[in-house]
Amino acid sequence: MIHRRGHIAGANSERAKAHNRRVVLAYVQRSDSAGRAEIARACGLSTQTVSNLIAELEAEGLVLAAGRRRAARGQPPVVYTFNPDAAAALGFEVRPDALVMVLSNLGGVVLASRQVALASAEPASVFVQMARLASEAQRAAPQHRLIGAGLVIPGPFGVEGLSAAGATVLPGWRAETAAAGAAEALGLPVLLEKDATAAAIAERMAGAAQGLDNFCYLYFGTGLGLGVIAQGLPQRGAFGNAGEVGHVVVRPGGLPCDCHNRGCLEQYASRMALSRYLAGRGLLAGADSPDAAALTLLASADAGLSGWLDEAASALSQAVGLLENLFDPQVVILGGALPDALLDDLIRRLDLPPGSVARRASRQMPRVLRGASGPTTAALGAAALVIHDTVTPRLDTAP
Ligand SMILES: [Zn+2]
Repeated sequence: MIHRRGHIAGANSERAKAHNRRVVLAYVQRSDSAGRAEIARACGLSTQTVSNLIAELEAEGLVLAAGRRRAARGQPPVVYTFNPDAAAALGFEVRPDALVMVLSNLGGVVLASRQVALASAEPASVFVQMARLASEAQRAAPQHRLIGAGLVIPGPFGVEGLSAAGATVLPGWRAETAAAGAAEALGLPVLLEKDATAAAIAERMAGAAQGLDNFCYLYFGTGLGLGVIAQGLPQRGAFGNAGEVGHVVVRPGGLPCDCHNRGCLEQYASRMALSRYLAGRGLLAGADSPDAAALTLLASADAGLSGWLDEAASALSQAVGLLENLFDPQVVILGGALPDALLDDLIRRLDLPPGSVARRASRQMPRVLRGASGPTTAALGAAALVIHDTVTPRLDTAP
């Protein structure tokens, strides 16, 4: 998934069939119910092709016949609905100190979730934990067929001297080997993605970005990442590293960063920056990243987070303006591993630049929204990758 080249795919019939299957499934999923003739018209396929694909999808339980629709004349057509409980996907997020697992049905409904602390984030030991959590999850939802797993680790991939040199490091993890190692441990196909892109996909499936085809997602992991969905598809760049927004300079000559820039966005707006702020005021012992519960407590106790919130909001405001002018998104979403109350507070404090293409008289939605898929966003996003791959047509499999 990461190193897929952007060449135009050849038109062999297997590819065409896989593509058409996704097109049909995506259409049935989007409509409440649809008959074969309607699907054929809407998808630009022959009725025979649609009938064959529907028969196949019905045999797998992915679509269900849901009675007949009333017709003006003649035999009323059988209509079909999408069955989100035909299968399920696992999602894993590996953080330096924790492993998060989510089991989701095909509609993004979470069937099971777990978070375990990691004594070691070394790949071999994490793979053992993943296998253990996977069998637990399978016991919790035995009627769902497992179609695969998504694995999310912080980016960037294969780059020396960016975040990988600093506090966001996951020692021993390499994009080239992570998916294969996980696939072997789980006995399932595994897709790899960076956390911010996976979170954006989750948000579109079951959060604030439902129904949106163009949006930017600023993701608070250990650092700050960006997921971009454009025309309904995640933008990955040539090496899977698009969206390394944490290292965009927002304060020239500002705080030094591990990447050797000064004034990087991540130095002001990230959990890392918040931890440093808290530690500097004696509100946090050590330099550990506080967990969500601790942050919620601090936020609700009004423990003097104002200074950080103002600084972070000011840096983020510039980043939001930049993203709007670069990508022309419908909305920019803030989410990830910060409590909702803190994210809401950050959004209230934003002072968005006026010079932005996002300032339209016809605008319906706010320019910035908080993510709604919760603290397991990235793990859910990892599962969503697999679901997305099953249900959504991909450009590179187009005939
Ligand atoms: Zn930097």
